[in-house]
This record gives sequence, structure tokens and C-alpha cells, in this order.
Amino acid sequence: MKRKRTKIVATISDKNCEIAFLRQMYEAGMDVVRINSAHLTIVGAQRIINNVREVSDKIALMLDTKGPEIRTTVCEAPIIVKKGVSFSITGDPEKKSAANNLYVSLKSFAEDVPLGSVVMFDDGEIEMKVQKREGKVLICKALNDGIIGSRKSVNIPGAKIHLPSLTDKDRAFIKMAARNDVDFIAHSFVRSRQDVLDVQAEIDKYKSEIKIIAKIENQEGVENISDIMEVVYGIMVARGDLAIEIPYEKIPSLQRMIISRCIYCRKPVIVATQMLHSMITNPRPTRAEVSDIASAIYSQTDAIMLSGETANGKYPVESVKTMTRVALEVENNKEKFLETPYLNVTGEISAYLAKVAVKTSLRISAKGIIADTTGGRTIRDMASFRGFNLIMAQCYSARTMREMALSYGVYASYQEKRKSIDEFIHIALKNLSKAHDLKAKDIIVVLAGNFSGGSGFSFIEVGTVQYLKDRVSIKEDQ
Ligand code: PEP
Repeated sequence: MKRKRTKIVATISDKNCEIAFLRQMYEAGMDVVRINSAHLTIVGAQRIINNVREVSDKIALMLDTKGPEIRTTVCEAPIIVKKGVSFSITGDPEKKSAANNLYVSLKSFAEDVPLGSVVMFDDGEIEMKVQKREGKVLICKALNDGIIGSRKSVNIPGAKIHLPSLTDKDRAFIKMAARNDVDFIAHSFVRSRQDVLDVQAEIDKYKSEIKIIAKIENQEGVENISDIMEVVYGIMVARGDLAIEIPYEKIPSLQRMIISRCIYCRKPVIVATQMLHSMITNPRPTRAEVSDIASAIYSQTDAIMLSGETANGKYPVESVKTMTRVALEVENNKEKFLETPYLNVTGEISAYLAKVAVKTSLRISAKGIIADTTGGRTIRDMASFRGFNLIMAQCYSARTMREMALSYGVYASYQEKRKSIDEFIHIALKNLSKAHDLKAKDIIVVLAGNFSGGSGFSFIEVGTVQYLKDRVSIKEDQ
């Protein structure tokens, strides 16, 4: 089986999460399952988690929180909007919206939104301009026709909104995620380092090792990206909301900028939303969608994401297969090594050896790299060079193994700690030979270092599968 280097995150709904379906998705190339709490109950999310775990212990789970978002309140009948007509908007989550009076979930709405701002409803479908403030009410004029239903999204591009980082629903979901040892929390609308620290404090309450992915989806998040990057595990370029909050023509350059910063900082990065939007209803992608996926891969992203395509679309498995096909083709044609500057995240020697291992494996046409890891840092360091050869990470914990599902070019498996390097290599090759179709004459680069009490890489060796494997004979083989 040919293995792609770019990882695929697929959003799964509790309405379509049967084990047989998830198995098909995994076999098609799904690496990470995203659970979107905005559309789920705790019971529904739990069902997805249980079923994913039945399929493979290598699939990572990512819980997406709602974060600080604003929505319209419930309305009994859809609100008809006509261009030029005036509407009042009031911050009051308890009131129902009706006729020309809209209510939104943020109490301080009238204070937070400056006069002259454009308020966008329902993923930007309807726009209104703020004309007057009358106490706690904003008077706005509709800029286009449309219909506003219950609980539709509200975006105010450029405005700084005073909402807490987490809602009560987010807290409940984080508690459930910690109980289930979920791998990642993708937190929505991250505006600053503080938003991340608030989520971290919540995770810490449960002494959980869940890693945080910051969803960058508004102007503030973009402005504070350097600060945010210092405290998160990874980043999602959440283009759905980002393209409402920021002019859409700016998104491609922002996407490229964020990807290259993430590679430099050794932080996994995901490009999300509408990558195969037409496949929600059609069995084949548009040419533009194929190019969009290719563009993200040429920019060297770690992962690409599917949302509605897999959560409620007609062709979820075909969508994953399409991404896999495009990834395999593009990876074959793009640069096979990236001159990423050194960053001393793993220790000076380890950082140097990581680069040498990736470069050497290419120069000598090795079949791949085998490396051991405790927490995954050195593996992510290696992944940052975007080498063509797969990194077959041998992880000493199941959690680290799953986390690696988000990193470019890394295929991880679990191995118990061994007494010697030779024993480690022998067992690794024995376990990996079938999965990676390793032949006796294939050359392998080994990078290991957890054997002398320390945890940094300290050892690099190159040899054929036969030579490396035969250096020790292990009892269970005989
Ligand atoms: C997005 O806005 O692109 C995104 C991924 O977030 P959500 O699907 O939660 O809107």
C-alpha cells in the first residue's frame, strides 16, 4: 500500500459513525477524526469516540470546541431581510428574534461593536451596516436581501469582542475529552495567548495531556499568531470563518504564511474548510478543489481537513480517497526536502541529527527512517524538513503514537522500552516489515537515543534491513 505523507483530518458526525464506515474511512486514508461539539451532544461525541477506538488505536481524536462565538437567538419564524430596511440588534440571549428586531447571544454587543461596522449573519450571507447606537441597541441597515433563521452565526470583521475564552458547553466537552484521553482540543476563535492559557487551565484541572490546536479564524488571531504559537501544540487555518472576518482575497497568502511559520516552529498545521465542498453532493471534485488541495500540499502543510464532506455529505469515503490520490501525486512532484532552519527544540545534537537523518535517507535512497521517541518532539523536528522518506516512529506511549497521526510523513507504532539499541532495531524491523513492505536489501536510517538514561537522540546508523535485524537474535523469533 502506498502511503501519503500529508495527513487527513475528517469530521465525523454521530449520525454516521458506524464501525464499518469508519473502517472504510481509515483504509481510504483518514488519520484524525474531528468531532465538532457545535453540532453534538456529549452522548453523541462519546459514541464517535468509542467506535473510532474499535477501528484502530492509531487514529487520533480531535474535539472541536465552540469557543467565543456570537449567534442570533431563536426566532419563531424566519426573518426576511430586504436591502435598505432597518433592523435593531440587541445583546440579550434570553429574548427571541422577530420581524425587524434581532437579538444576539453577546450581552455587550452594542458596546463592543463600533458605529460603521458591518455585521454579518449566517456565514456572511447577510450584511448589515451599523448606523446608530441607542443605549443597548444598535440600529443597522441591511446591505442585501436574505433570510435569517434561529441561532445563525454573527461575525463583525475587525471588532474586538469581550467574550470569555470558553463557554459552559466547552467546559463540559473538555471534561468528557479528558475522561476519554482524547488527543487534541481544536479551540475555536482563538484571539490571543490568554485564550489558549484558559483552555490549558481547564485541561490541567483533569491532569490531562490533551494538546491544544488553535483555530485561527479572525483578525485578532492573525495579529497575535506569534504569541499564540508559543503556547499551542498546533494550528488550524480555519478558512470558513477566517474568510468572513478577513477579506477572502487575503486568505491564500495568510494560509501560506501560517504554514511556513508552523513548519519553522515545529508545530503541526492543518488547512481546513471547503477543500472538497462540491463533494457534499457530487461524486467528483471540481478542478479548483483539486488545485486547492494541491496548493496546500505544495505549501507543505502537515494536514488537510474535511468538514461537511465527511460529516453529512453523500460521498465521505470518496472524499477521503480523492484527497489521498491528490496527495500521493503532488508529494511525488514537489520538493523532497525543505531547508528548514535549525531550531533548538530538542537539544543541539538532536536537532542536528534529525536533519542529517532526513537528508541522508534521501541521498542514499533509503526506504525510510526508524526513530524512537518518548514525547514526539524529535519526530516533529524531523518532520519539519518534509523529507520524502517516511518516518517510522517507534513510540513508548500510545498517546504519543496517536499524536503523530497529525505530523507530516510520520507513521507511528508502539514499542515497549528495550534494553539495548540492537534489540530495539530488531523488534522495530520485525514489526514494520509487513506494514511498510520492507525487503532484506532495503536501506534504513536509524535514529535513536533513549537508551543511556537520557531522552535526546544520540545515535544514527545506516544499514540494510537484513544487516540491522540480524545483529541480535531475539528469543521470540526462534
Ligand atoms: C472554519 O471556520 O473553517 C472551521 C473549521 O470551524 P467550524 O467548522 O467550527 O466553523
